[in-house]
Amino acid sequence: MRAPSIALGSLELVPLSDGFLALDGGAMFGVVPKPLWERVAPADARNRIRMGMRPLLVRGERTVLIDAGCGDKMDAKSAEIYAFDRSRHLDHALADAGLTATDIDVVLASHLHFDHAGGFTARGQDGVARPRFPRAQYIARTGEWEDAVHPHERNRASYFAENYVPLREAGVLTLVDGDGEVAPGIRVRRTGGHTMHHQIVFIESAGKSAVFAADLIPTAAHLDDPWIMAYDLYPMDTLAFKRTFVREAIAGEYLIFFEHDPAIAAGIIRERPDGRRFVDPVAPRER
Ligand SMILES: [Zn+2]
Repeated sequence: MRAPSIALGSLELVPLSDGFLALDGGAMFGVVPKPLWERVAPADARNRIRMGMRPLLVRGERTVLIDAGCGDKMDAKSAEIYAFDRSRHLDHALADAGLTATDIDVVLASHLHFDHAGGFTARGQDGVARPRFPRAQYIARTGEWEDAVHPHERNRASYFAENYVPLREAGVLTLVDGDGEVAPGIRVRRTGGHTMHHQIVFIESAGKSAVFAADLIPTAAHLDDPWIMAYDLYPMDTLAFKRTFVREAIAGEYLIFFEHDPAIAAGIIRERPDGRRFVDPVAPRER
Protein backbone atom coordinates (compact mmCIF):
# COMPACT_ATOMS: atom_id res chain seq x y z
CA MET A 1 0.00 0.00 0.00
CA ARG A 2 1.26 3.45 -0.89
CA ALA A 3 0.45 6.30 1.47
CA PRO A 4 -1.81 9.00 0.09
CA SER A 5 0.11 12.18 -0.69
CA ILE A 6 -0.46 15.72 -1.88
CA ALA A 7 1.54 17.11 -4.81
CA LEU A 8 2.98 20.62 -4.44
CA GLY A 9 4.91 21.49 -7.60
CA SER A 10 7.85 19.08 -7.71
CA LEU A 11 7.45 18.14 -4.05
CA GLU A 12 5.35 15.41 -2.54
CA LEU A 13 3.75 16.05 0.87
CA VAL A 14 2.73 13.04 2.95
CA PRO A 15 0.75 13.73 6.14
CA LEU A 16 1.80 11.19 8.77
CA SER A 17 0.45 10.28 12.21
CA ASP A 18 1.99 9.36 15.53
CA GLY A 19 -1.42 8.63 17.00
CA PHE A 20 -3.57 10.71 19.31
CA LEU A 21 -3.56 12.29 22.75
CA ALA A 22 -6.11 14.11 24.89
CA LEU A 23 -5.51 17.55 26.37
CA ASP A 24 -7.63 19.75 28.61
CA GLY A 25 -10.15 21.52 26.39
CA GLY A 26 -10.03 24.72 28.42
CA ALA A 27 -6.25 24.87 28.06
CA MET A 28 -6.55 24.27 24.31
CA PHE A 29 -8.86 27.25 23.80
CA GLY A 30 -7.59 29.78 26.35
CA VAL A 31 -10.10 32.57 27.00
CA VAL A 32 -12.83 31.02 24.83
CA PRO A 33 -15.74 29.79 27.02
CA LYS A 34 -16.56 26.09 26.95
CA PRO A 35 -20.07 26.53 25.48
CA LEU A 36 -18.34 27.87 22.34
CA TRP A 37 -15.45 25.40 22.00
CA GLU A 38 -17.28 22.22 22.95
CA ARG A 39 -19.43 22.54 19.85
CA VAL A 40 -16.38 21.99 17.69
CA ALA A 41 -14.27 19.91 20.09
CA PRO A 42 -16.36 17.65 22.37
CA ALA A 43 -14.81 16.99 25.80
CA ASP A 44 -14.57 13.67 27.65
CA ALA A 45 -15.55 13.13 31.32
CA ARG A 46 -12.22 14.68 32.36
CA ASN A 47 -12.74 17.73 30.14
CA ARG A 48 -10.13 16.53 27.64
CA ILE A 49 -10.41 16.82 23.87
CA ARG A 50 -8.96 14.38 21.36
CA MET A 51 -6.05 15.66 19.31
CA GLY A 52 -3.86 14.19 16.61
CA MET A 53 -0.09 14.24 16.37
CA ARG A 54 0.65 14.70 12.70
CA PRO A 55 4.24 15.01 11.54
CA LEU A 56 4.65 15.94 7.87
CA LEU A 57 6.92 14.22 5.36
CA VAL A 58 8.26 16.28 2.46
CA ARG A 59 9.78 14.30 -0.42
CA GLY A 60 11.89 16.17 -2.91
CA GLU A 61 15.65 16.33 -3.41
CA ARG A 62 15.80 15.39 0.24
CA THR A 63 13.42 13.45 2.45
CA VAL A 64 12.45 15.78 5.29
CA LEU A 65 10.38 14.97 8.36
CA ILE A 66 8.81 17.92 10.20
CA ASP A 67 8.24 17.08 13.88
CA ALA A 68 7.87 13.46 14.99
CA GLY A 69 5.04 13.17 17.52
CA CYS A 70 5.54 12.06 21.11
CA GLY A 71 7.36 8.81 20.38
CA ASP A 72 7.33 5.80 22.69
CA LYS A 73 9.25 7.00 25.76
CA MET A 74 6.31 8.41 27.74
CA ASP A 75 5.82 6.80 31.17
CA ALA A 76 2.64 5.30 32.65
CA LYS A 77 1.75 8.48 34.55
CA SER A 78 1.87 10.60 31.37
CA ALA A 79 -0.05 7.95 29.47
CA GLU A 80 -2.81 8.22 32.09
CA ILE A 81 -2.87 12.04 31.98
CA TYR A 82 -2.70 12.40 28.19
CA ALA A 83 -4.57 9.24 27.13
CA PHE A 84 -2.07 8.44 24.38
CA ASP A 85 -3.53 6.30 21.61
CA ARG A 86 -0.59 5.08 19.55
CA SER A 87 -2.09 1.83 18.27
CA ARG A 88 -1.04 3.26 14.87
CA HIS A 89 2.07 5.39 15.21
CA LEU A 90 4.83 7.00 13.16
CA ASP A 91 6.58 3.74 12.23
CA HIS A 92 3.31 2.47 10.71
CA ALA A 93 2.79 5.76 8.88
CA LEU A 94 6.33 5.68 7.47
CA ALA A 95 5.86 2.05 6.39
CA ASP A 96 2.65 3.03 4.59
CA ALA A 97 4.75 5.63 2.74
CA GLY A 98 7.24 2.88 1.77
CA LEU A 99 9.89 4.24 4.15
CA THR A 100 11.78 3.31 7.27
CA ALA A 101 13.64 5.48 9.77
CA THR A 102 16.86 5.15 7.73
CA ASP A 103 15.30 6.95 4.74
CA ILE A 104 14.93 10.29 6.55
CA ASP A 105 17.63 12.84 5.58
CA VAL A 106 16.51 15.78 7.69
CA VAL A 107 14.33 16.09 10.79
CA LEU A 108 13.09 19.63 11.38
CA ALA A 109 11.64 20.81 14.71
CA SER A 110 8.86 23.40 15.00
CA HIS A 111 9.79 23.50 18.70
CA LEU A 112 10.95 20.98 21.30
CA HIS A 113 7.81 20.21 23.36
CA PHE A 114 7.33 16.47 23.95
CA ASP A 115 4.34 16.07 21.62
CA HIS A 116 6.51 17.31 18.72
CA ALA A 117 10.05 16.16 19.61
CA GLY A 118 9.41 13.01 21.67
CA GLY A 119 9.78 10.94 18.52
CA PHE A 120 13.23 12.38 17.74
CA THR A 121 14.88 9.77 19.96
CA ALA A 122 14.16 6.20 21.02
CA ARG A 123 15.55 4.06 23.81
CA GLY A 124 17.79 1.14 22.95
CA GLN A 125 17.86 -2.23 24.73
CA ASP A 126 20.11 -0.57 27.35
CA GLY A 127 17.45 2.04 28.12
CA VAL A 128 19.56 4.89 26.71
CA ALA A 129 17.83 7.38 24.38
CA ARG A 130 19.53 7.81 20.99
CA PRO A 131 18.62 9.50 17.68
CA ARG A 132 15.77 7.53 16.15
CA PHE A 133 16.57 8.40 12.53
CA PRO A 134 20.11 7.07 12.09
CA ARG A 135 21.07 8.97 8.92
CA ALA A 136 19.25 12.21 9.67
CA GLN A 137 20.59 15.64 10.44
CA TYR A 138 18.24 17.27 12.94
CA ILE A 139 17.52 21.00 12.75
CA ALA A 140 16.17 23.15 15.59
CA ARG A 141 16.19 26.84 16.36
CA THR A 142 18.97 28.08 18.64
CA GLY A 143 16.66 30.03 20.98
CA GLU A 144 14.29 27.08 21.29
CA TRP A 145 17.22 24.82 22.19
CA GLU A 146 18.38 27.26 24.86
CA ASP A 147 14.89 27.41 26.39
CA ALA A 148 14.52 23.62 26.22
CA VAL A 149 17.76 22.99 28.11
CA HIS A 150 16.89 25.67 30.70
CA PRO A 151 13.25 24.92 31.55
CA HIS A 152 11.38 26.85 34.25
CA GLU A 153 8.28 26.16 36.36
CA ARG A 154 5.88 27.24 33.60
CA ASN A 155 7.25 25.04 30.77
CA ARG A 156 8.97 22.18 32.61
CA ALA A 157 6.14 19.72 31.94
CA SER A 158 6.71 20.07 28.17
CA TYR A 159 10.51 19.78 27.91
CA PHE A 160 12.26 16.45 28.42
CA ALA A 161 16.01 16.41 27.88
CA GLU A 162 16.02 12.81 26.59
CA ASN A 163 14.09 14.01 23.52
CA TYR A 164 16.84 16.33 22.25
CA VAL A 165 20.05 16.27 24.33
CA PRO A 166 21.05 12.88 22.80
CA LEU A 167 20.97 14.55 19.36
CA ARG A 168 23.55 17.08 20.48
CA GLU A 169 25.68 14.36 22.05
CA ALA A 170 25.58 12.30 18.85
CA GLY A 171 26.66 15.34 16.80
CA VAL A 172 23.56 15.26 14.59
CA LEU A 173 21.91 18.48 15.72
CA THR A 174 22.24 21.70 13.74
CA LEU A 175 21.04 24.84 15.47
CA VAL A 176 19.82 27.58 13.14
CA ASP A 177 19.34 31.26 13.90
CA GLY A 178 16.86 33.42 12.08
CA ASP A 179 14.35 32.72 9.32
CA GLY A 180 15.25 31.20 5.98
CA GLU A 181 15.69 28.09 3.89
CA VAL A 182 16.76 24.91 5.69
CA ALA A 183 16.39 22.50 2.75
CA PRO A 184 15.43 22.99 -0.92
CA GLY A 185 11.90 24.47 -0.98
CA ILE A 186 11.62 24.47 2.81
CA ARG A 187 12.01 27.57 4.95
CA VAL A 188 11.22 28.44 8.55
CA ARG A 189 9.63 31.54 10.04
CA ARG A 190 9.58 32.33 13.75
CA THR A 191 6.14 33.00 15.22
CA GLY A 192 7.00 33.30 18.90
CA GLY A 193 3.89 33.10 21.08
CA HIS A 194 3.56 29.43 21.95
CA THR A 195 7.23 29.49 22.91
CA MET A 196 9.53 32.46 22.34
CA HIS A 197 11.17 30.68 19.38
CA HIS A 198 8.31 28.54 18.06
CA GLN A 199 8.48 28.38 14.25
CA ILE A 200 6.25 27.39 11.35
CA VAL A 201 7.47 25.83 8.11
CA PHE A 202 6.82 27.10 4.59
CA ILE A 203 7.05 24.55 1.80
CA GLU A 204 7.20 26.14 -1.64
CA SER A 205 7.38 24.79 -5.17
CA ALA A 206 6.24 26.02 -8.58
CA GLY A 207 4.64 29.15 -7.10
CA LYS A 208 2.52 27.16 -4.64
CA SER A 209 2.76 27.43 -0.86
CA ALA A 210 2.00 25.02 1.93
CA VAL A 211 2.54 25.79 5.59
CA PHE A 212 3.05 23.44 8.50
CA ALA A 213 1.40 25.62 11.14
CA ALA A 214 2.47 23.58 14.22
CA ASP A 215 1.08 25.14 17.42
CA LEU A 216 0.24 28.51 15.83
CA ILE A 217 -3.02 27.00 14.50
CA PRO A 218 -3.02 23.56 16.15
CA THR A 219 -6.43 22.46 14.83
CA ALA A 220 -8.98 23.62 12.28
CA ALA A 221 -10.99 24.92 15.28
CA HIS A 222 -8.31 27.53 15.98
CA LEU A 223 -8.84 29.77 12.93
CA ASP A 224 -10.24 32.81 14.72
CA ASP A 225 -7.62 35.23 15.97
CA PRO A 226 -8.43 35.02 19.73
CA TRP A 227 -8.82 31.21 19.80
CA ILE A 228 -5.38 30.81 21.33
CA MET A 229 -4.12 28.08 23.63
CA ALA A 230 -3.68 28.82 27.35
CA TYR A 231 -0.45 26.81 26.98
CA ASP A 232 1.07 29.68 24.98
CA LEU A 233 3.75 31.49 27.00
CA TYR A 234 3.26 34.78 25.10
CA PRO A 235 -0.35 34.82 23.86
CA MET A 236 -0.21 38.44 22.66
CA ASP A 237 2.68 37.47 20.36
CA THR A 238 0.59 34.57 19.06
CA LEU A 239 -2.24 37.02 18.40
CA ALA A 240 -0.03 39.51 16.58
CA PHE A 241 1.49 36.85 14.31
CA LYS A 242 -1.77 35.02 13.71
CA ARG A 243 -3.68 38.19 12.83
CA THR A 244 -1.32 38.82 9.93
CA PHE A 245 -0.63 35.22 8.97
CA VAL A 246 -4.21 33.94 8.67
CA ARG A 247 -5.11 36.84 6.36
CA GLU A 248 -2.02 36.08 4.28
CA ALA A 249 -2.99 32.39 4.19
CA ILE A 250 -6.54 33.15 3.03
CA ALA A 251 -5.35 35.56 0.33
CA GLY A 252 -2.61 33.22 -0.88
CA GLU A 253 -4.75 30.06 -0.61
CA TYR A 254 -1.99 28.37 1.34
CA LEU A 255 -2.37 24.68 1.97
CA ILE A 256 -2.25 24.53 5.78
CA PHE A 257 -1.23 21.43 7.72
CA PHE A 258 -2.95 21.18 11.13
CA GLU A 259 -0.60 19.19 13.34
CA HIS A 260 -3.05 18.51 16.18
CA ASP A 261 -6.40 18.27 14.41
CA PRO A 262 -8.09 14.95 15.25
CA ALA A 263 -9.53 14.58 11.74
CA ILE A 264 -8.31 17.18 9.23
CA ALA A 265 -4.65 16.83 8.25
CA ALA A 266 -4.65 19.65 5.72
CA GLY A 267 -6.84 22.23 4.08
CA ILE A 268 -7.23 25.73 2.75
CA ILE A 269 -8.57 28.45 5.06
CA ARG A 270 -11.40 30.43 3.51
CA GLU A 271 -13.56 33.30 4.70
CA ARG A 272 -17.27 33.82 4.15
CA PRO A 273 -18.60 37.29 3.31
CA ASP A 274 -19.67 37.68 6.99
CA GLY A 275 -16.06 37.15 8.04
CA ARG A 276 -16.51 33.61 9.36
CA ARG A 277 -13.60 31.37 8.59
CA PHE A 278 -13.67 27.70 7.70
CA VAL A 279 -11.34 25.03 6.37
CA ASP A 280 -11.77 23.45 2.98
CA PRO A 281 -10.14 20.07 3.65
CA VAL A 282 -7.69 18.76 1.04
CA ALA A 283 -7.62 15.01 1.00
CA PRO A 284 -4.39 13.30 0.02
CA ARG A 285 -4.67 11.12 -3.06
CA GLU A 286 -3.36 7.61 -3.75
CA ARG A 287 -0.44 7.73 -6.14
ZN1 LIG B 1 1.80 20.77 20.44
